[in-house]
Amino acid sequence: MIYDLAPDYVKSIAPYQPGKPISELARELGLEEASIVKLASNENPLGISPKALEAMEGALQDVARYPDGNGFAFKQAIANKFGVDMSQIVLGNGSNDVLELVARAFLTTETQAVYSQHAFAVYPLVTQAVGAEGVVTPAKDYGHDLIAMTAAITPNTRVIWIANPNNPTGTLLNRAELYSFLKDVPKNVLVVLDEAYDEYLADDLKSSSVEWLKSFDNLVISRTLSKAYGLAGLRVGFALASTSIADLMNRVRQPFNVNSVAQAAAVAALADDEFVARSRALNTAGMMQITQGLKRLGLDFIPSFGNFVSVRVGNAADVYQGLLQKGVIVRPVANYGMPEYLRVSIGLAQENARFLKALEEL
Ligand SMILES: *Cc1c(COP(=O)(O)O)cnc(C)c1O
Repeated sequence: MIYDLAPDYVKSIAPYQPGKPISELARELGLEEASIVKLASNENPLGISPKALEAMEGALQDVARYPDGNGFAFKQAIANKFGVDMSQIVLGNGSNDVLELVARAFLTTETQAVYSQHAFAVYPLVTQAVGAEGVVTPAKDYGHDLIAMTAAITPNTRVIWIANPNNPTGTLLNRAELYSFLKDVPKNVLVVLDEAYDEYLADDLKSSSVEWLKSFDNLVISRTLSKAYGLAGLRVGFALASTSIADLMNRVRQPFNVNSVAQAAAVAALADDEFVARSRALNTAGMMQITQGLKRLGLDFIPSFGNFVSVRVGNAADVYQGLLQKGVIVRPVANYGMPEYLRVSIGLAQENARFLKALEEL
C-alpha cells in the first residue's frame, strides 16, 4: 500500500547498479581484500594526490563546524583555473549531484530530456526521478548521433544530456561537431556537456568547451574530481554555466551539499597538476597494455577516450562471474543495452595484467 503512494515515474525507475565493492566480493568468496583487483568503477588506480590527502587531514580538525555552504575557496580555485566568474559555478556532491540539480531546476512532468542510447545511466535516472519524459536517440557507432539528437527536440524539450567522452562506450565527439551542434540547438534548450573524463584527453582532443560558455547561455559543463583527481569516495564535482543557470541550480541545491573535508581536498587536488599528469600518463600506458592484450586474444573492443574500455566477450554475464571467481571485478553493461560487453577500468600495470590473464584463462 505504501508502495503505491509513490508516483508511477518513481516506481518505474531502474535502480543504478554500482560496481561490486571489494569488501563484498571478499566476504562472498572468503578472499583477502588485498588479493582482489577492482577495475569496475573507473577509479584512479594511483589513489589520491598526496597534497589532497594532507589538506583533508587539516580539514578533519574542523568537522564539528558546518562547511562553507557557498564553497568560497573551492569556487575561487575553480574560477582561477577555468577563467570563469564565481557566479557561474555550482558545486556538487559528486557531479551526479549537479546533473540532478539541472533536472530539478529545469525538468517537470510536462517536459522532455534527450539522451543517447548507451549513454551514462544517470541521465535517465535524474530525468525520470522528476517525472520528465526521457527521449532516447539511437547511437551512431556506439556514440552520440548529434543530428538525431537535434532532430529529437520538440517544444517540450528542456535538456539534452551529452557525455564526452561517453561512459561506458568511451566514444568522443570532436570540437567541430559539438560546436556546430550547439549552434543548431535552440537557445531555450539546455545542453549539458558532461566532461567527467576530460583530464584523460590529449590536449589536441579537448573541446575547450569552457570558452563556449561566452557564446552559449544554454550550455552547462559538468566536471568531476572522482576520476583523474582521485577523489571518488569524497563525492566532489561542479558545473560551469551562465550566471542565470547557475543561480537556478543553486536554489534547489542542498545548502551544505559538499562537505568541508571534500572542499579542502578539492582545492588541493585542483592545484596538483603533476598528479593529474601522472594519472593521465598511467592511463595512456594502461590503455595500450589492455587493448593490445585484447587484440592478442582476438576480442573486439570499442576504442575509448576514457579511463576504461568496453570489450565484446559474448556471454558477458558468464564471463563477469568467471572473472569474479578469479578475484577480478569488472563491470557488466547489459543495463546499457550492451549484453555482450564488459567494461574494464584501466588500472595499474599489474592489475591490468591480472585482468588479461584471467580473461585469457576463461
Ligand atoms: C564517473 C562519471 C561521472 C562522475 O560522477 P561523480 O558523481 O562525479 O562521481 C559523471 N559522468 C560520467 C559520464 C561518468 O562516467
